[in-house]
Amino acid sequence: MSKERIGRARQILKDAKLDGLLVTNIINVRYLSGFTGTEGTLLIGPRSATFFTDSRYTIQAGEQIEGASVVTFNDKFGAIAKKAAKLNVKKLGFEGDEVTVNFRKSLGRALKGIKLAPLAGQVSDLRLNKDLDEIAALKAVIEVSEKAFKKTLRKIVPGAVEIEVARFMEIEQIKLGAIGTSFDTIVASGPRGALPHGVASNGKIKDKELVVFDWGAIMNGYNSDQTMTVPVGKVGGLAKKIYEIVYEAQQRAIEACKPGITGKELDLVARKVIEDAGYGKYFGHGLGHGVGMEIHEGPRASRLYLRKLEAGQVVTIEPGIYLPGKFGVRLEDMILITETGYERLTTLDKRWKGR
Ligand code: ZN
Ligand code: ZN
Repeated sequence: MSKERIGRARQILKDAKLDGLLVTNIINVRYLSGFTGTEGTLLIGPRSATFFTDSRYTIQAGEQIEGASVVTFNDKFGAIAKKAAKLNVKKLGFEGDEVTVNFRKSLGRALKGIKLAPLAGQVSDLRLNKDLDEIAALKAVIEVSEKAFKKTLRKIVPGAVEIEVARFMEIEQIKLGAIGTSFDTIVASGPRGALPHGVASNGKIKDKELVVFDWGAIMNGYNSDQTMTVPVGKVGGLAKKIYEIVYEAQQRAIEACKPGITGKELDLVARKVIEDAGYGKYFGHGLGHGVGMEIHEGPRASRLYLRKLEAGQVVTIEPGIYLPGKFGVRLEDMILITETGYERLTTLDKRWKGR
């Protein structure tokens, strides 16, 4: 597994004419090496790979690292420099999006005479297309998050405190095997639902309101992300009308998912439904994002993402309409792009269930 992934990373060396690649983003390090700790750096050469960590992780690294030799350091930059010299590295690529100014300075000081080449997102892009193990991990974490949500549904009643509902759901996820949440759970009722990222508050859920519920779990290094908008008690009228528009926008966009469509085109499918209904200005965010080892990663379904989606990529489809002072509606699913179209990974039924 890791050998295959490190092999793909070596393509970056070739493409960018490098003789070394330094991977510092800890999630990319985990993806490439299997290491789950918090201090780890990978140096990938044309024929070798070296993993650097400190003494806290010597044993763990020995057990987890595949496809790279392990070096335990006291002085990180010194250790990297020593190895780079041994490998006769002349031009070293590093993750330009991931390092701090001070890291870059220290690296330059230690690696005198070696040209440092900042890369854009090439290393993270290795994680764009998920393999079967990753898809299985995503399905497993989604299952946990959905089971927890089903238990939580009966807590979404008039008088319930948003934050208590959120914590109940988070604990249910942990009981089912998650190690935590992907982000602060959003339980936003009534007018608070019009804040697209209003986290759960001390406020109480009222009768005849919509509750926007956006949550995710982390398990085995993979995240889930889903949004339901739940009607409490008798809700109809404008709320139902807006819900149906969002649902239609979401369905159209899901059905448009296939290899070759760009993120921009996908965004426009949903946006057009909402604009045609007259609510375009109340849908202010992009349609969706990739989910995997990070809760927000590539690809994107947004007007700014001009690349084509490919089989194996996972993207959320999450249109919303937010009416300030009134309420909000958002529906979100995780969609896997397949060779022939798409597979909906999240399974909760999002049809209107108000009375
Ligand atoms: Zn979400
Ligand atoms: Zn999302």
